Amino acid sequence: MEIETNKEYKIEISSVSSDGNGVGHINGLTVFIPKTVTGDIIKAVITKVKKHYAYGKMLEIIEPSPWRTAEKCPYCENCGGCQLWHIQYNYQLKIKKDIIENSMRRIGGFSDFSLDNITGMDIPKRYRNKTIFQIGSKQNNSNAKEQIKYNNNNNNSKILCGFYAQSSHNIIPINDCLISNKFNESINKTIINYMKTCKVSAYNERIHKGVIRRIFTRVSFSTGEIMVIISANSKKLFNQEYLINQLRNVTDKITSIILNINTKKNSSLLGEKNIILWGKSTITDTLCGIEFFISPESFFQINPVQTEKLYNRIIEYADINNNNIVMDVYCGIGTISLYAAKYAKKVISIEIVPEAIENAKQNAIHNNILNTEFYADSAENIVPKLLSHGIKPNVIILDPPRKGSDKVTLSAIVKAHPEKIIYVSCNSATLARDSQFLVNSGYIITKSHGFDLFPYTVHAETVILFEK
Ligand code: SAH
Repeated sequence: MEIETNKEYKIEISSVSSDGNGVGHINGLTVFIPKTVTGDIIKAVITKVKKHYAYGKMLEIIEPSPWRTAEKCPYCENCGGCQLWHIQYNYQLKIKKDIIENSMRRIGGFSDFSLDNITGMDIPKRYRNKTIFQIGSKQNNSNAKEQIKYNNNNNNSKILCGFYAQSSHNIIPINDCLISNKFNESINKTIINYMKTCKVSAYNERIHKGVIRRIFTRVSFSTGEIMVIISANSKKLFNQEYLINQLRNVTDKITSIILNINTKKNSSLLGEKNIILWGKSTITDTLCGIEFFISPESFFQINPVQTEKLYNRIIEYADINNNNIVMDVYCGIGTISLYAAKYAKKVISIEIVPEAIENAKQNAIHNNILNTEFYADSAENIVPKLLSHGIKPNVIILDPPRKGSDKVTLSAIVKAHPEKIIYVSCNSATLARDSQFLVNSGYIITKSHGFDLFPYTVHAETVILFEK
């Protein structure tokens, strides 16, 4: 029997997919239904049918899963930020463990792979140290032809500030995001009041007009310092002294106010230049006893509480002594490198973003950690060169972006025969692919651990130790 679009079906949810949708079956066809969980029996309408799967929308819960929770974020129905709000936290961890293990089994071919453990948060709230709110106006969210009539100063009473809905650029207004810093709400209100008072328009990405594009905040969990970055399609802000004064009145924890000039027509988060409107150019945070200067564009893990647990496990797996050479590939601002350097003879680190390497070097000097060497280059270019020129690392740490590492880098690494390779990953699909390469090249997986750095979202971090 065929299944039909727009028709209603009773479905039992049997698992949760790697993108956070509940999975059920109708006549043998897999159906993905957002905001459901294993054990739910629901009524759903089918919204899209493809050859091998379909999508549906839940209409009613006939029998709720025991893993559902009554606790709710007020925005979770529409906001695209989190996928798992309806699920009890312990069960979220089980889902993430399953996602990682399924990737390793199905993509990596490790049929009996299981994670040693997964570590969640004691209090999985307010964990983010960085939040980006989108600014727009009601016109952004409609397809109406009036778009064209939009002009710079109209309709500021309808400014929207929030996050995008799932798979869309429609802004869902959000006052207080429960996984972010509590000061964001008053910071956002202050900036919107400034926009209304001073008639500064919201940016409209459809027609590339208007001024304020995003409000971006970074907060240091160790010092409490807050950096407010206003991303604008303009080289300066009208009446900026007024805005600065208003923001400084929100809390004395704000230590930097920065204008990010972003005149790009694409949706890049940050634009070409940062101008310090008031305060310092960086905030300072501490991880594992090491102080880091963080600039607006620096990569810094967004959940410091869990990051410390992750880094401690990396160092434990690495088991470094003071005769060891360590290589940290994809090092960002050198967070893992500087921690490893406390135990190693020398750490050699690679990162493609030159500004991050500048930060890493400053951080090394600031912390008086001098047995480090940083290279601003792509891994695929520099790792083979360094390793064929006589550098013999005992331990190589890899912490690539979501797309994973690549064959050139991995081949050079296995040819250098380090005793240990530690792979840190935020994407279990590419982790599984790269693990297969390492295992086919003679390494074995000896330890593995998951860390939940992103509660309520479907993302999970994994660290795997490979040994000869
Ligand atoms: N280890 C760091 C950063 C991990 S994020 C930390 O824990 O904070 C991954 C990093 O890889 C980013 O900083 C990104 O800029 C960098 N990167 C992306 N592609 C790269 C490449 N081809 N070569 C080297 N670094 C790359």
